[in-house]
Amino acid sequence: MTPPMLPDLPIFRTIAEAAHELGQPAYVVGGYVRDLALRRASKDIDVVTVGDGIALAQAVGRRLPGRGRVTVFRNFGTAMLPTDEAGEIEFVGARRESYRAESRKPEVEAGTLEDDLARRDFTINALGLSLNADDFGTLVDQHGGLRDLAAKTIRTPLGPDVTFSDDPLRMLRAVRFATQLGFDIEPDTYEAIGRNKERIKIVSQERITTELNKIIEARLPSYGFKLLFQTGLLALIFPKMAELHGVEKVGQHAHKDNFFHTLQVLDNVAQAGGDLWLRWAAILHDIAKPATKRYDERVGWTFHGHEDKGARWVPGIFTDLKLPLGEEMRQVQKLVRLHLRPIALSKEIVTDSAVRRLLFEAGDDVERLMVLCRADITSKDHQRKARYLRNFDVVDEKLREIEAKDHLRNFKPVITGEVIMETFGLKPSRQVGELKELLLEAILEGEIPNEWEPAHQFLLDKGAALGLVPGLAATPRPAAS
Ligand code: ATP
Ligand code: MG
Repeated sequence: MTPPMLPDLPIFRTIAEAAHELGQPAYVVGGYVRDLALRRASKDIDVVTVGDGIALAQAVGRRLPGRGRVTVFRNFGTAMLPTDEAGEIEFVGARRESYRAESRKPEVEAGTLEDDLARRDFTINALGLSLNADDFGTLVDQHGGLRDLAAKTIRTPLGPDVTFSDDPLRMLRAVRFATQLGFDIEPDTYEAIGRNKERIKIVSQERITTELNKIIEARLPSYGFKLLFQTGLLALIFPKMAELHGVEKVGQHAHKDNFFHTLQVLDNVAQAGGDLWLRWAAILHDIAKPATKRYDERVGWTFHGHEDKGARWVPGIFTDLKLPLGEEMRQVQKLVRLHLRPIALSKEIVTDSAVRRLLFEAGDDVERLMVLCRADITSKDHQRKARYLRNFDVVDEKLREIEAKDHLRNFKPVITGEVIMETFGLKPSRQVGELKELLLEAILEGEIPNEWEPAHQFLLDKGAALGLVPGLAATPRPAAS
């Protein structure tokens, strides 16, 4: 592998000049150098200087036209400078760290470049490119990072037990980089994860979830989850998912392994371009299967109600994992709850009313639901798989047809509770709720269209049957929405 070449950007010359003037050697380090070598799109730039990182950032800022705006983080001894040409640049003084067993907060003191690179997580992230006049652009590679990039290997620069015990999050980062880059974890490094896995418990959930989400967003997330499972990390950070693993047998009847099935669905969703939340829906779609598993003499293994139970678990899981609890969560919950519905539809003759109900419940998530459902077909029987997918095409077609006609995905009944109360002079009551329900049913069943005149007439008829009399004042018709 050829050494990475520093791109010819003026900002690097500017940093070099400022560093020279301060008499502080400076280096570009970390992910930016790694991604240069891999010809990957590189993100933010990290600069290490032997000396005061904040002072260097300020000196660079002063040299930029219009003066770069430097943000200083005194507590961390770092400073950040946004640039037009190269995103954000973070400056930090080279440091040495010593850790204590009871905490992941290290004692930090100023150190050499060598100290700084040795405390990094992996050899591939411990590369530096000089910004100094005498050897500008030269690679610093004390730990064989270039060799490991070429060999596609994740390896710690120091002994792996030291590196992982110092900051246990690095175990997850090993899996994350392996997954993002398609690398192997070097055997000693891999085995050390097994030995140190329990220490992941001292890491904050936020840091864990950040890495987990990066694994999930990779091109082939299953690879990361297999590593997490095999190292024993998954059982510690997300036990419910690890519990999907395993096959039980009664006589000749075995059910499929729900862990590997889930990973297949996750990969399928990833391949279909699914975003983070659709991927979470894939991870969670069968999460309650172990809790609902039964063996029935006549039909074999069943998981009745796993979609509802799974959906009910979603808020708890999101809370535990410190995932956001707003719209994203509700969407994942909805997808988990509805994930069997299109399959059920595709097995029978598709009736308009069943399609209407699905559109009504799925709303704007209906396309994403269909992506999840297609991904859920992991049968190895190619003919059966093809048949299911063809049936889904029919469902898709039907969904489009009915949506064009009835506009149910953002469905709001034309007759609201207020209208019902006004029409019959009622107070909020069970009767109002029942009338609303009757209207909704009639519209979803296709007995009446979702339009004012027929819906209002329907209401008057049902009211009359219940002995209700419309008020004298004509019910005002609301402005069309
Ligand atoms: P990404 O492309 O995801 O940003 P990155 O390699 O830049 O990858 P960051 O988390 O941004 O990763 O960290 C920047 C650099 O800081 C890393 O390349 C690595 O050298 C170092 N680093 C980050 N976190 C740790 C850690 N927990 N332990 C040791 N070194 C770390
Ligand atoms: Mg980075």
